[in-house]
Amino acid sequence: MDKVIETDALIVGAGPCGLFQVFELGLLDIRAHVVDTMPAIGGQCVELYPDKPIYDIPAYPVINARELVERLLEQIEPFEPQYHLGQEVRELSREDEKWFRVATAAGTRFRARAVIIAAGVGSFQPRRMRLKGADRFEGTQIHYRVRDSADFDGARLVVLGGGDSALDWVLALNEKAAGLTLIHRRAEYRAQPASVAKMHELCEAGKMQAHQGQVVGLIENGGRLTGVEFQDLRGERHTVEADQLLIFWGLSPKLGPIAEWGLNLEKNQIPVSTETFETNIEGIYAVGDINTYPGKKKLILSGFHEAALAAFAIRHRLYPEEKIRLQYTTTSSVMHERLGVKD
Ligand code: FAD
Repeated sequence: MDKVIETDALIVGAGPCGLFQVFELGLLDIRAHVVDTMPAIGGQCVELYPDKPIYDIPAYPVINARELVERLLEQIEPFEPQYHLGQEVRELSREDEKWFRVATAAGTRFRARAVIIAAGVGSFQPRRMRLKGADRFEGTQIHYRVRDSADFDGARLVVLGGGDSALDWVLALNEKAAGLTLIHRRAEYRAQPASVAKMHELCEAGKMQAHQGQVVGLIENGGRLTGVEFQDLRGERHTVEADQLLIFWGLSPKLGPIAEWGLNLEKNQIPVSTETFETNIEGIYAVGDINTYPGKKKLILSGFHEAALAAFAIRHRLYPEEKIRLQYTTTSSVMHERLGVKD
């Protein structure tokens, strides 16, 4: 049996607020493990709007979302957070007064003295194909993410979607595929203009095909998917042969297992105390978009403030006998030592 990881603090969610929670805990000498369903760090900033500028982060007149995440990663580096990515936290239960048990879908298990839920709007899940029979091919011939691009070498590929993921994979997989067809529901693409231009060049060079329309049926033979039928924007139907279907229709958030942990919920959000950011379960805290309280605003800077107060409350939970002094990072040699900077 795999060993159980023991930690003072476990953070569910690697969005901007989960990341800043690492920093605030670190200043108070508490190390954290961070778990996220997504394979990439950054939450909504990276999944939904990586290249968009944000104008309301204090001291940054403008910063794009991906860069904000990179800066946060740099800022929390001294506290050496341990990341567990591509793993949804499924189970959370109290072991005793002091410890919680946490388990992920991938089988990683933790014992944590405090749990901070920074789960935003929930786990991002790929939007799935609803056509009859599609689920039978999921994981074998229908995919919502690429785990290893070599899996598609020599295959007749059909890619569905018109955003960055779809176009990035079209460009990456085109060379080694036996054939590649992109089908998008409209003439306009949401991807980077440079990627769209490259895709058009490949079409003109006869290296791939692009169509606009909706997939209306799956074609199968002997239990295997052999192609798709799609209806173009004029309503005419066509078929395309396929060994593998890659679908990038975006992500939609789902609260998921959080609803089963005994936490009070109000419209899919977790009510918290504005003093400690503790939930109705002692030792479980919630920061960022997932929490609610009178006057809550779902902004990154609100989550940063919440993470600071939650850290003080967690320090008190872990060391109730100790008097916590507020120390400035500017002048405190203790803070400098924790941050790894020289006095
Ligand atoms: P999120 O960023 O949502 O991250 C939560 C993470 O938790 C996700 O990665 C998710 O996969 C993970 N997770 C959820 N459940 C689980 C589970 N069970 N197990 C493991 N992991 C889990 N805010 C601003 O302040 N200024 C702006 O200009 C601004 N612009 C925006 C523009 C757009 C288009 C959008 C969509 C949002 C914008 N926001 C803006 C809002 C901002 O992005 C959110 O407030 C912020 O991302 C919240 O951060 P978070 O860390 O709480 O959650």
